[in-house]
Amino acid sequence: MAKTFGGVFTQQRPIPEAGIEAAVRVMRSGRLHRYNVLPGEVSEAALLEQDFAAWLGVPYCLATTSGGTAMQIALGAVELPRGAKVLTNAFTLSPVPGAIHQAGGVPVLVETTGELVIDIDDLAAKAEASGAKHLLLSHMRGHLADMEAITALCDRAGITMIEDCAHTMGAAWKGRKSGTFGKVACFSTQTYKHLNSGEGGFVTTGDAGVMARAIIRSGSYMLYDRHIAAPGADAFADARLDSPNCSSRMDNLRAAILRPQLAQLAADCEAWQTLYGVLEAELRKVPGLILRAIPNEETHVGSSIQFRAPNLTDDHVPVFVALAASRGVELKWFGSHEPHGYTSRHVSWRYVTEQALPRTDRVLSRLFDMRVPLTFSEADCRLIGAIVGDCLGEIAGSGKAPEEAR
Ligand SMILES: *Cc1c(COP(=O)(O)O)cnc(C)c1O
Repeated sequence: MAKTFGGVFTQQRPIPEAGIEAAVRVMRSGRLHRYNVLPGEVSEAALLEQDFAAWLGVPYCLATTSGGTAMQIALGAVELPRGAKVLTNAFTLSPVPGAIHQAGGVPVLVETTGELVIDIDDLAAKAEASGAKHLLLSHMRGHLADMEAITALCDRAGITMIEDCAHTMGAAWKGRKSGTFGKVACFSTQTYKHLNSGEGGFVTTGDAGVMARAIIRSGSYMLYDRHIAAPGADAFADARLDSPNCSSRMDNLRAAILRPQLAQLAADCEAWQTLYGVLEAELRKVPGLILRAIPNEETHVGSSIQFRAPNLTDDHVPVFVALAASRGVELKWFGSHEPHGYTSRHVSWRYVTEQALPRTDRVLSRLFDMRVPLTFSEADCRLIGAIVGDCLGEIAGSGKAPEEAR
């Protein structure tokens, strides 16, 4: 009988008990708004920012309503001029080009390599051709490009780098944490990332001016002195009058459930690495699959895994996805012309001028993606890997036309 997996790819673990208790305390207090504090009280949101800044090793942090609003705020805080071009990855999630557009920028999409990271040669070429002075670097699916090469390129060309770390909380390049390479970094605490508050995000930076503008933009009114992971009042002298209010504050309830999760993040990252390792080893046994070789310089914390199956024909791709689904394995395919669920391709972002990205299209046409939630066991991962192998073997070995292959 064909093996079937019965787990749920979208099921995260419950919120830690300490988070539930903290959330109940906030609800009992009635003070959910981050600036609604008693004399001398520091809000959960401000404490979370302090915790996260300490965890990342930077002086300043702002908590926001989402990763997407964090990116919009970050682009505004680096004073992106209206109509300015912003380099970014062609392979990313739609909030990334969306944030550039919302911040008044114009996305310039950069090719993706077979290793699923930004193509540095194309980045250099497009930086020169476009004259763009900003890069929103998306560490899509947790894969880091050569951060030294990118930093050197940005320094040479006078480009301000903003990191999208939605998938790299806990990741590092040569021991240096992702989110500490650019002028600003953005994180997400949306349910499917490394911390889970339903929705939420962070902006982090070492630059006092950038953080002052970010805080005012997030909707602090004139209550910015209630932040702890923030610069002193001097930094706000102009920002408080110059920066538009985008009302994207995190509330105390979400902050309360995040703080205990942050305290156990290191252990969770190790758990993800273990599951990823098991799944990777299993998938590497399958003939015809290509997985990214993670460089020695990189500390990778995959909460999802990707593989390419370059030998599948166009017709076989949907058959493979359907066959895996029929055995309980939920694969996302990035090559689809029509956007599905969370997944869309650059051609579906019609507010962005159409751009030719043949290399990215080629890579995405045979790229598959799976979530790896911490509710999975190592045995689950072995079973999932075996099912993927079976499904691919069935299609490859069938010798039948794809419509008969099921
Ligand atoms: C999830 C995600 C974001 C931010 O998403 P929100 O849902 O707005 O928190 C940004 N970039 C990438 C690559 C993502 O996957």
